[in-house]
Amino acid sequence: MINRNILISGAGIAGTTLAFWLKKFGFNPTLLEISPKIREGGYAIDFMGAGYNVAERMGIVPDLKKVDIDFSTLRFVDKNNNEKGSMNYQKIKNFLKGRAFTLLRSDLAKVIYNNLDKDIEVIFGNTIKNIEQDEEKVVITFSNGTKQNFDLLIGADGLHSNVRKLVFGEETQFEKYYGYYTSSYTINNASIGNNAFSMYNVPYKQVAIYSNKENKTTTFFIFTSIEKLSYQQHDSGKQKQILKAAFGDSGWMCPQLLAEVDTATDFYFDSISQIKMECWHKGRVSLVGDACYCPSLLSGKGSTLAMAGAYILAGELKQAGGDFNEAFHQYEKLFKPFMEKKQKAAQFFAKSFIPKTNYGIWMRNLAFKLMSVSIFSKLFLSQFKDSDLMLKEY
Ligand SMILES: Cc1cc2nc3c(=O)[nH]c(=O)nc-3n(C[C@H](O)[C@H](O)[C@H](O)COP(=O)(O)OP(=O)(O)OC[C@H]3O[C@@H](n4cnc5c(N)ncnc54)[C@H](O)[C@@H]3O)c2cc1C
Repeated sequence: MINRNILISGAGIAGTTLAFWLKKFGFNPTLLEISPKIREGGYAIDFMGAGYNVAERMGIVPDLKKVDIDFSTLRFVDKNNNEKGSMNYQKIKNFLKGRAFTLLRSDLAKVIYNNLDKDIEVIFGNTIKNIEQDEEKVVITFSNGTKQNFDLLIGADGLHSNVRKLVFGEETQFEKYYGYYTSSYTINNASIGNNAFSMYNVPYKQVAIYSNKENKTTTFFIFTSIEKLSYQQHDSGKQKQILKAAFGDSGWMCPQLLAEVDTATDFYFDSISQIKMECWHKGRVSLVGDACYCPSLLSGKGSTLAMAGAYILAGELKQAGGDFNEAFHQYEKLFKPFMEKKQKAAQFFAKSFIPKTNYGIWMRNLAFKLMSVSIFSKLFLSQFKDSDLMLKEY
C-alpha cells in the first residue's frame, strides 16, 4: 500500500466516516477539525438508503438504534398550537422494513466518532492555512504556524470548504443558492413540544420543534430570502439577529423559542445551497461530502450521501493500493453521476419547498397526509432507497 498518510480536513459526517474506513483498509488517517470538539447541533434527519447500508457495514446500526427517535406522528399546527393535520410516519417507515431511523444530526456524528479506532489522531481547534503539493507529497501549513507533510489531503469540511477554496478557488464559482436559509439549535431543560414533532408554517417561513425524553427541545427554522444575505460565516451574533428579525413576529411559539437563541451552544445557520463542480480532485487532493457535492436540505439526504461518498472514496483507495490517480478517478466515475441525479431531484423541490400562501400551506399539509397512504408513501420513498447506487464490497 502506498500513500498511507492521509490528512482529512473536517470531522463532520463525511470526515469521520472516511477516517473509519481508511483505518480499516490499512491507511493512516489524521482528522483535523476547526472546532474545539466534535460539533453538536442540527435537526432530525431521515436516515435510510445508502447511508444505512454503509452504517450496517460499519457495525454501528445497534448504536444508531439506541438514539433513533421512534416517533409515530408529525403534527401540523396553527398559531394557537391546534393540530391542523398530521402525517402517520410509522406507516412510511414500515415501507422501508425497519431499515430507517430518524436521528438528530448530532447523535449520528457522535456515534460515528465514538466508533473510530482509538489510534486515529484527531486534531481539534486548528485548520489549514496553506497547501502546497508536488510529485511526492502535500505540504500543509496549519493556522498555528506548524508545517507537516502528508501523502494525500481530503477536504471533508462541508459546504464552505476551506480545502476547496485553497485548492480550487472561491466558493461563488461552485455554490448554487436556492432562496432559503435554515437554522437549528437546542434548548435545554424545556420540553416545549410534548415529545412530538410539530411543524408550523406561515407563508415563506416554517418552524418545527421536537422535544425528547431528556427535556431538550431541538428547533428547526427555514425562511425564504430571494437575495443572498450578507454576514460572515462565523459571525453567529449577526446570524442570530437575522433569525430573530425573520421570525420575531411570526406567532406560535416563535417568541418563546427565539428568547433562548442567545444562550444556545450548538447554534447552526446556513443558506440552502448546492455545490456543483466539474471535478472533485486536483493532484493529491480530493473532496468528499458537502465540500464537493452538497445536495442541500432540499434532498433530505446530505448526511447519508456524505457517508456513501466517504465509503466509496476509501474503498477505491484500498482497491488501487493507494494509487490516488486511479482511486480519485474511479470514485468520481462511480459516484458523481449518481450525485448529479440526486442534486437534480432536490432542485425540483426548490420553488415549492416552503409554501408562499395559506392555500399552499393547506395543499402541502394535504400532500404530507396522503403520504401515509401506502401507494403514495411507496412512490415518495422509492427515491430514498438509493437502489440505483451499487455499493461494492471492498
Ligand atoms: C453543527 C452542524 C449542524 C448542522 N445542522 C444541519 C441541519 O439542521 N440541517 C441540515 O440540512 N444540515 C445541517 N448540517 C449540515 C449537514 O451535517 C451536512 O449537510 C451533511 O451531514 C454532510 O456532511 P459533511 O461531513 O460533508 O459536512 P458537515 O457535517 O457540515 O461537516 C463539516 C465539518 O468540517 C468542519 N470544518 C469546517 N471548516 C473547517 C476548516 N476550515 N478546518 C477544519 N474543519 C472544518 C466543521 O466544523 C464540520 O465538523 C449541519 C452541519 C453542522 C456542522
